[in-house]
Amino acid sequence: MDAPSLSLAPPLPGRPRLADHVLARLHRVGDETFVVLFDQQRGVSFQVGMREWVLLSLADGTRDLEGIRLAAAREGAIASSAVIAAFLARLHVEAMLAGGAEPDGRASVASPDARPIDALAGYRFACDGRGVCCRQYATVVFSQLEATRARALLPLVERGGDRHEWAFTPRHGSIAIPACAVKHVDGACAYLDEAGLCRIHAAGGALAKPFGCNLFPARFVDDGEAVRVSALVECACVLRSAGQPTGDGLVPGDARTRGELPREVFVEVLPATIALTDTREVGREAIVAWSRAVLEGTFADGVAWLWATADAMERDGALPSPAVRCEHIDATAVLPWLRSLRAVLARVTAEARAWRGPGDVALNALEVMGDAIAALCDDGLLAPMLAAGPVQSEAEAFYLRANAHAHQWVAERPLAVQLRNLAMRLTVARALRRFHGAGLLTGEAFEEPVALVEAMCRGYGVHADASA
Ligand code: SF4
Repeated sequence: MDAPSLSLAPPLPGRPRLADHVLARLHRVGDETFVVLFDQQRGVSFQVGMREWVLLSLADGTRDLEGIRLAAAREGAIASSAVIAAFLARLHVEAMLAGGAEPDGRASVASPDARPIDALAGYRFACDGRGVCCRQYATVVFSQLEATRARALLPLVERGGDRHEWAFTPRHGSIAIPACAVKHVDGACAYLDEAGLCRIHAAGGALAKPFGCNLFPARFVDDGEAVRVSALVECACVLRSAGQPTGDGLVPGDARTRGELPREVFVEVLPATIALTDTREVGREAIVAWSRAVLEGTFADGVAWLWATADAMERDGALPSPAVRCEHIDATAVLPWLRSLRAVLARVTAEARAWRGPGDVALNALEVMGDAIAALCDDGLLAPMLAAGPVQSEAEAFYLRANAHAHQWVAERPLAVQLRNLAMRLTVARALRRFHGAGLLTGEAFEEPVALVEAMCRGYGVHADASA
């Protein structure tokens, strides 16, 4: 990372640690091992070497500078107090440090045990076992127990059997917390083998894998009436499973209430009020009723429906009828939003390019998405693409159903803005589908572009908050 002027540095916390909004991710690309520090608040990342990571992992809020120096020396990372202070000061200028061993405050609302489970009707999931989803996410979470089991089963993987820290980092910050993130090797989970299969599964059976891997693609959202269980449409298998009678249900053990779910299942709670636009919000009950009504409808053209619904929300400041008229979509209105999305994608891709290798699925996907958006924005493809309608109408319809069932379009930004983002994702997916159909794109990751674009946008924070 570049060194900022130390004269600007505020005083270091007495017992520094990495702030919880910073994600440290361990990577090996080829023969080089390093750690990427991703700042979730600012969407920027920095790369540090393993020696710096040793220092940083020992800065866990319990040690002052001298304590960090002594602990680092025990680990073989010899550095003077001045060097450690200068390194930490560089992070502090970037607002990546906090002080003390207490985690940052996080509001959490529990879902009551009696809440009934309501799973997406008729959906069963079958994994094709090709490991695409093991290669596309920046984070794969393990519990400490799961990490210990993986290290015991496969001690030679990244020499994790010797040291937890060689295969895992804390899920966030630098305090040792119950959840950790596995190392990535050439962009994939370290436990994925060359054939695309999970080594943990092979060595210890399906139940030895992390709980989250076995739970994928289920997402659980308590909306005040029920715990809605839907599918994250982020892998080709998720779309291919739609409408198929075989596969596994989304709910572990066919639980009927929250209390019957395994405690490891994370249930998000829908907020009591939800912003529709920058100036209007509605109560959760209204969103629940609206999502239900949306599920009853049909989507002839997913992009047109999303855009027209966002238009109506911004025009009327209220939730529109799900049967909103959406016969025509104006490309000149979409273009500034697409340009804004393009700018964010370009920044994320440039950061990924700085450290990801050429065979990396995520980098490849981000670059191809950039090409698709360039074709839409610069080559006049947007208007004909919108006029032509869906390329994969069943995939788009399932994507909207899965979103509606668990209110997945409720995000940090107003609903109208999020719907425009979803419309753009489907538009980019349509362009990718055409590239694929024309033989310009190959590879299993591009077989279901709706899922790929969704995974990249959600997983890597690629979204537009306003038109350019
Ligand atoms: S633990 Fe196994 S299933 Fe989970 S991401 Fe890694 S390789 Fe894939």
